[in-house]
Amino acid sequence: MHVKYLQCVRCGNKVSKDKIQFRCEKCGGGLDVIYDYDEIKDKVSWKELRKRPFNHYRYREFFPTLNDKNLIKLGAGGTPLIFSENLLKDSKIKLYFKLESSNPTGSFKDRGTSIELSKALDFNSKEIVVASTGNMGASIAAYCAKAQIKANIFIPEKTPGIKRKQMKSHGAKIIQVHGDYVLAAQKAMEMFNKKGIYLLGDYPYRGEGEKSVGHEIMDELNADYIVVPIGNGTLLKGIWKGVKELKLTGLIEKTPKMIGVQSENCDTVIGSFLNNSAPSYVNDPVTVAAAIACGSPLDGQEALESLQESNGLGITVSDREILEAKRLLAQQEGIYAEESGAVSLAGLIKLSKKKQTREQLREKTIVCIITGHGLKT
Ligand SMILES: *Cc1c(COP(=O)(O)O)cnc(C)c1O
Repeated sequence: MHVKYLQCVRCGNKVSKDKIQFRCEKCGGGLDVIYDYDEIKDKVSWKELRKRPFNHYRYREFFPTLNDKNLIKLGAGGTPLIFSENLLKDSKIKLYFKLESSNPTGSFKDRGTSIELSKALDFNSKEIVVASTGNMGASIAAYCAKAQIKANIFIPEKTPGIKRKQMKSHGAKIIQVHGDYVLAAQKAMEMFNKKGIYLLGDYPYRGEGEKSVGHEIMDELNADYIVVPIGNGTLLKGIWKGVKELKLTGLIEKTPKMIGVQSENCDTVIGSFLNNSAPSYVNDPVTVAAAIACGSPLDGQEALESLQESNGLGITVSDREILEAKRLLAQQEGIYAEESGAVSLAGLIKLSKKKQTREQLREKTIVCIITGHGLKT
């Protein structure tokens, strides 16, 4: 529809949108999907968009070309935005939670999967391979069942039993590697290189699907800040791209600032954001937030640039702070989140107490993304 081409975020190399490619051939950088926003601008207005149902297809013009018959609809998106009654009242923050745990398989990954897998169907794929810490695999297993596509999923040793069960129930083939997520991702890439099996994961089209978190928030609310956990960085990058393109097409006047949060045991992006250095590598990270334990983040550079561009903030949190945020969500707000899903709140609580950031956040409208459901860990 409105896609012009794909472009490497590192070296600027352009790739045809009709080619199956996951990383830049020249430098290994991530590929961004480039749209013609002038063309989109003429087609979108809130009046027209809001006539459509509230789910992520409402923002269809901002997705890559998808053949209608290849859309796999399981009900992704359209998740609730809930006002916080009891937390951070002292700092006068107008706090909201975006319940991505309400997606069909219990995490925001469904938004990315729906677009990424539809795109695989556009390319006539019959089988896919992916690496996952659990939630992405569970999401892809479900969507593959619906589309009747064969799924091979590489998982790290530490993947929780319940997520394995979820993947298996949908009939996916699960291959456990003896190591962490980085090793699983290498194995998946190898299977693509050797057998040509279509590769899913944090590659160009997933981030495009996850933009709709940003679209939906700004559709409902004039947010000043959006707080996002970072694993591979795809969600944060996607939300930032989503809100930027709303501005580019005249749908909003001001973009919110992004706040990135990571576990202090896996501070690949936030460490560099705070120290002004390139994203770092963490070998076999150990944290209660297993869904964000990505030692070599595929979209780390993009997430870092999103934080910088939006003039945002970054913070790391300890396991204890994550578990405390999870408890507060459950006991003060009635929200049951998995550990990684409580990371955004843990980060915001910490920032709201810090001298350097306390005033900046006062009286602001802030959305914490609750990325995954508590029943998953
Ligand atoms: C995948 C995931 C994340 C991290 O998202 P990235 O796009 O990898 O940064 C955070 N929380 C949960 C629950 C997840 O499943």
